[in-house]
Amino acid sequence: MVLPKYDVVLTTDRSMMSNYHGKEFLGFVTTGPLFITVGPFKKLGEWIHEYIAMPKMKVDKYGRPYQAPYGMRKIEAALLDAGINAAIIDPDHVHKYIPNARILMLSHHDYFGLNPPSSTWSAIVGREPLNAYSFRRFMMRIRPYIMDAKSRNGLKVVVGGPAAWQWLYLPELMDFFGIDTVFDGEGEKLVVDFVKRILNNEPVPRYVYVGVNDAPSIDEIPIIKYPAVNGFVEIGRGGCPRGCAFCPVTIRPLRWYPLEKIEEELKLHIKYGVVHGLIHAEDVPLYGSTGVELNPDKLIKLHQLVKRYYLTMAWSHTTLASVLTAEKKYNKLATKIAEIIEDEHQEWWGGAQVGLETGSRRLAKAIMPGKAAPFKIEDWWDVVEEALGVMHDIKLIPANGDYRITWGRRRTTLWRR
Ligand code: SF4
Repeated sequence: MVLPKYDVVLTTDRSMMSNYHGKEFLGFVTTGPLFITVGPFKKLGEWIHEYIAMPKMKVDKYGRPYQAPYGMRKIEAALLDAGINAAIIDPDHVHKYIPNARILMLSHHDYFGLNPPSSTWSAIVGREPLNAYSFRRFMMRIRPYIMDAKSRNGLKVVVGGPAAWQWLYLPELMDFFGIDTVFDGEGEKLVVDFVKRILNNEPVPRYVYVGVNDAPSIDEIPIIKYPAVNGFVEIGRGGCPRGCAFCPVTIRPLRWYPLEKIEEELKLHIKYGVVHGLIHAEDVPLYGSTGVELNPDKLIKLHQLVKRYYLTMAWSHTTLASVLTAEKKYNKLATKIAEIIEDEHQEWWGGAQVGLETGSRRLAKAIMPGKAAPFKIEDWWDVVEEALGVMHDIKLIPANGDYRITWGRRRTTLWRR
């Protein structure tokens, strides 16, 4: 079979290139430490962990994945829109494309397991997380192909994605794996010019940081061309009016997609047979708003739109304060949204990350005074308890450890101790 040739090949390892059995949040299991690392059961433990956490992605006859991480799909779309010959290739097939590629672009959520929760768990048990292990093993496998292509045709290797910064702390690995540039930040606006420079044999910097002024506007963010993992669709990008001191989201501008643009990506997924999906923003209930007050009209229309296309849907993130605001201050808006989402295809939705962060009111006031807004941060305990009570009632399941709290709304007193 003759393979197509791509000037730009985008890829990542299996911990990213998986649909996690159709359950997005099962992907978190890749951040856990390897089940067993010694003795005769090492291979078995590895196999079980990988089977649960990162099953192989379906690919076409050329090794192009059926679904791929959303951020990579955006970069692929920006390059394709600019007429650049680019494709995302599954990690099991990428070695066949490296010899003819001009640029290999890697992306990852957590290349070396340095982000939480990977770093948290591995520090506790002293074992490498699966995602870091998987990436290391992948890189060792393709390294000979990279080095050969670099010496034969000057292949350039670029690392990006949310964890691009991690390479800056490991310069010896950049040399070992032949990495030419670390591309750090939202790429849609700058990546085309950057790639064209390489294709024109012009020099490019070893480190590119995309600052606020180069973050793409909504109009500059392209529509993805092929499905994202588990029907993921972005409804808003960056920014958060709550301004928690520890949060990198706050250094980027907040941008909401218009419904028409969201609908184009919903249609695209349906075209490819993806009928279950996840909408993403840092705080989904804030869709279409300018501060921490909600925009009920837009929020209702958003959910009606998504449910017109997807049989089942989920939220990626919400704050507890937004859920409570919707229910208490906007005439049971959270319940109204639940009535749109819950139907014969789904009885509940989730698992949204709620970001509890701390049970200490003193700490909350110091580091995240806007987290409870429009309620007072001094009432953080009550906001958490009441919001989780609302979530329990409307069957919105949180994704992280807070799930224990929702088992009984009155059990929230437990975490105060
Ligand atoms: S509420 Fe969440 S997204 Fe917003 S600033 Fe705080 S941690 Fe970041």
